[in-house]
Amino acid sequence: MSDSGVVTWEQRWHPLREEWVIVAAHRNDRPWHGERAAPPAARPPAYVEDCYFCPGNPRVSGARNPQYRSVFVFDNDHPCVGPDAPQSLAAAPGIYRNSPASGIARVVCYSPRHNITLAELDPSEILTLLIAWREQYVDLGTRPGVRHVLIFENKGEVVGVSNPHPHGQIYATNFVFKTIETEVEASRRYYEEHRRALFHDIIRSELEDGRRVLAETGSAIVFMPYFARYAYECYVAPRETHSSLATVTDGELADLATALKWLLVRYDNLWQMSFPYVLALHQAPTDGGDYSGFHFHIECHPPLRKPQLLKYLAGPEIGGGNFLSDTLPEVKAAELRALPAVHYRTPDA
Ligand SMILES: [Zn+2]
Ligand SMILES: [Zn+2]
Repeated sequence: MSDSGVVTWEQRWHPLREEWVIVAAHRNDRPWHGERAAPPAARPPAYVEDCYFCPGNPRVSGARNPQYRSVFVFDNDHPCVGPDAPQSLAAAPGIYRNSPASGIARVVCYSPRHNITLAELDPSEILTLLIAWREQYVDLGTRPGVRHVLIFENKGEVVGVSNPHPHGQIYATNFVFKTIETEVEASRRYYEEHRRALFHDIIRSELEDGRRVLAETGSAIVFMPYFARYAYECYVAPRETHSSLATVTDGELADLATALKWLLVRYDNLWQMSFPYVLALHQAPTDGGDYSGFHFHIECHPPLRKPQLLKYLAGPEIGGGNFLSDTLPEVKAAELRALPAVHYRTPDA
């Protein structure tokens, strides 16, 4: 139902992906008899002896983690792209192509504490992470052969994470990830036509409408986009256009840290559980191209529609490639905005 009580059943254009999202919000209360995600596990201790990420512990590679105190970055011991990937490959058959999976895969531990999450870190600790992300983007992005740096966090068992130690990953690859390629192309065409960044105009439209704006923290903004594909999909971004973190100032980073904290606390408070998501930084490729029309942003894609109820990707999404959303962004944004500002696991909260 929309604010006016009228059922919303329409298609919304996703300007960054240049595709339709079917919003069929009248179907969200369909009876459900299928599989549910497992209930959240009990909180683990602050240090776990056999955790590969805890300070001082050995990893599978044989390396030992230092007694780190804040953010700790290291090369992934199970890299999906890496300098050791085979360089001389058998020729692909027929019309097909292949190439070496070279690149660099890293792990970023957010905190030495095993049992804390990004949502529970102080804004100053989140700022330290953002600074580390900026350093990694610049460091990896300037290496020869690296055309793109994807920084992301998978959080929760429902997105395949078995170790709860707070961490994210970085893939520096010799190709540009598809979503970025799509967004870059849409942004480039929009910039050529309007001389303004597409994402900047998305922010302007969100501010003018206001119903999906969640928070403004100085130079940063949190909103649920008009064209959200997932029930609780939200974006965090600087208001000014930067094609990547590389040019974002320390002051803007501090505002972004506060904005990210705002969102992640609401996520956890929504159902009083550690909220699973896939968080990704969308930044310009590092292949030397002109990306002045591209506006860096952080996208959060939570897979749950209801407590323990997953959004399944099925016929429309996997079969057809477009999303079907059972929820209305205006309603979901209002839900998040109404939640308490203090994390539910804060002592005395
Ligand atoms: Zn750990
Ligand atoms: Zn994006």
